[in-house]
Amino acid sequence: MKDKYITSFLLVFIFTLFAAEQTFPQKLRYQTHADITQLAADIRERIHLTDAESDTLKSLPVIQARVGEYPPLHFSEGGLAKGLGVEYITLIAEIYELNLEFMTMPYLDSLESMKTKNDIDIQAGWHINEERKEIVIFSQPYVKSPYVIFKRIDSPKILGMDDLTDKKVVIEKGYALHSNLEKNFPNLTLHTVKTSTQALESLSSGESDIYIGSLMVGYYLIKNLGLSNIEVTAPTQIPPNVLHIATRRGLPKLAALIDKVMSAMTDDEHRVLKNHWLNTEVKGMISTRDVLRYSSVVIAIISTMLVVTGIFTIRRLRREVTTRKLAEQSLRKAHDSLEEEVDNRTRELSVAYEELKISNAKLEDLSVHDSTTGISNRRKFDQTIIIEWNYSTRMQSNLSLIMVDIDFFKQYNDNYGHPKGDECLRKIATILDSAVTRKTDLVARYGGEEFVILLHDTNLEEATKIAERCRRLVSESNITHNYSKIADHVTVSLGVSSITPTPQVEPAVLVKTADTLLYQAKENGRNRVEVCEEEG
Ligand code: GH3
Ligand code: MG
Ligand code: MG
Repeated sequence: MKDKYITSFLLVFIFTLFAAEQTFPQKLRYQTHADITQLAADIRERIHLTDAESDTLKSLPVIQARVGEYPPLHFSEGGLAKGLGVEYITLIAEIYELNLEFMTMPYLDSLESMKTKNDIDIQAGWHINEERKEIVIFSQPYVKSPYVIFKRIDSPKILGMDDLTDKKVVIEKGYALHSNLEKNFPNLTLHTVKTSTQALESLSSGESDIYIGSLMVGYYLIKNLGLSNIEVTAPTQIPPNVLHIATRRGLPKLAALIDKVMSAMTDDEHRVLKNHWLNTEVKGMISTRDVLRYSSVVIAIISTMLVVTGIFTIRRLRREVTTRKLAEQSLRKAHDSLEEEVDNRTRELSVAYEELKISNAKLEDLSVHDSTTGISNRRKFDQTIIIEWNYSTRMQSNLSLIMVDIDFFKQYNDNYGHPKGDECLRKIATILDSAVTRKTDLVARYGGEEFVILLHDTNLEEATKIAERCRRLVSESNITHNYSKIADHVTVSLGVSSITPTPQVEPAVLVKTADTLLYQAKENGRNRVEVCEEEG
C-alpha cells in the first residue's frame, strides 16, 4: 500500500517536472559583459537623438525579446539568454537604457503569438521571408553565413545538391530554409526536427545521412557538442542565411532606433561582438545545458561506465580527439573557401539593399503626390494638418487654411473635354504653388477641382492676403472659359479660416469652417474670397 503511494507521488513529481519543462514562454536572465558596456558607451556618444526619439524612448514599455534554440545566434542555457543576437539586443538596450526581458518560446508558437498578441516585441535573429515581413520590421543584417552540406566523415563524398537523391536530409522544421528547400528542391527526402542540435545529433547517430544548415551554426555546434564524425562536404547554391533583429510592426519607432545603432556601428565594433561567438574554442564533449538538465542521470551513468569500461573509454576518447582534430581542420578549410563566397554575396546584397532604398523612396514619394497635378495629395494634407495642429497647440500660434474651388469646372470639362480639364487643373496647381512662398506652407489637391493651402504660423489677415493673391493670379492667367457664367476665363472661389488651436478642438473644425466659407463665396457670386469674421 505504502509502495503504491510512493510510486504515485514519484509519477506526479516526474510529470510535473516534464510539464514545467514544456511550458512556454519561459523567462530568461541575461548577462552583459565589459565589451558590451564599453561598446554601448562609445556608440552612445555618436548617436544624436531628436526630441521625438527621446520621447519615444521614455514612452516604451518593458521590451520583450524572444530567443529560440539557434546557437550561437540565440539560445537559452541554464536559464540564461545567450548568443550573438542576444548580445546585439543587450547592447541596444544599454545604449538606450531600455527595460528588457528575454524569453524562450518555440519558433512556430512565437510566429503565431506575434500575429495575434503583442507579447513579443523583438526577435533576436531572423532571416527575411514574405510571411515574416508582414508582421515585423527588419533591422540591417548583423551576420551572414552560407548554407552548406554536412555529412558523416565515413559516408561517401557529396559534391553538391545534385548528389542528394536517395539521401535522408535532416533540417530544422518551419524555418526559412525549410520552405526554400521544399520549393526549390522538391525531390529531397526531408526529415525535420525542432532544433539545430537535434539535426546534428540525428546526422551523427546515423539516423539521417545529410544535414543542410548554416555553416556558422553547424561549425559552432559540432565543436560544442563534440561531434567528431561530422564534416562539411560541399556548398549549396541557396542564398546565405542573413540575420536581422526583427521588431514587431506595432513598434516602428523602436525599429528605427535599433537601425540607428546598427548604422552607427563600425566594422571593428561588429567584430568585437562577433569574436565572442564565431571563434569559440571547443568547450567539451557535452553542452552545459545538457549537463544541467540531465546531471544526476549523467553522473550515475558515468560512474558506472567508469568502473566497467574505464580503460576502453580513455582509449576511445584518444581516438576521438584525433578524429575531431582532423574534422576541425577540414571544417576550417571549408570555412575559409566559403568566406570568399560570403563576401561576394554580401556585396550583392548591399547593392540590392541600396536599390531597395531607392525604390522605397520613390514609392514614398508617389504615395504623397497627386498624379495629375504633381503637387501634394489629400493623404499628405491629412498627415500635415495633424502635425501643424500639434505644433500650433504647443506654441499657441495661428494656423490658417484656404480652400480653393474652380468655378464652373463641370462646364469646362463638358465643353473642352477631360484632357483639357486635367491641363487646367495642372495650371491652377502651379499658380497656387507659386502664390505661396514659405517652405513651411503646404499646397495640396484636396479632391476633384478643390485645393487646400495650409499656412503655418500665419494669422487671418496674412492668410486673407494670400487668398486674394491666389484669386487674382488665377484670374490674370486668363485661361479661356467661354462657358463660365461670370467671366470669359477660369476663376476660383476661396474660403479662409484661421485658428489658435487648443487641445479641446479637432483639426476638422478648421476644414469645416473654410469649406462653409467657400460655399458662401459661391453663393455670393464666385471669383471671390470669403473670410471668417474672427479667428477661432
Ligand atoms: P461650382 O462653380 O459650383 O464649383 O461648379 P463646378 O462645376 O465647378 O462644380 P461641380 O462640383 O458641379 O463639378 C466639378 C467637376 O470637376 C466635375 C468633374 O467634371 C470635374 N472634375 C473633378 N475631378 C476631375 C479631374 O480629375 N479631372 C478633370 N478633368 N475634371 C475633374
Ligand atoms: Mg467642387
Ligand atoms: Mg467647382
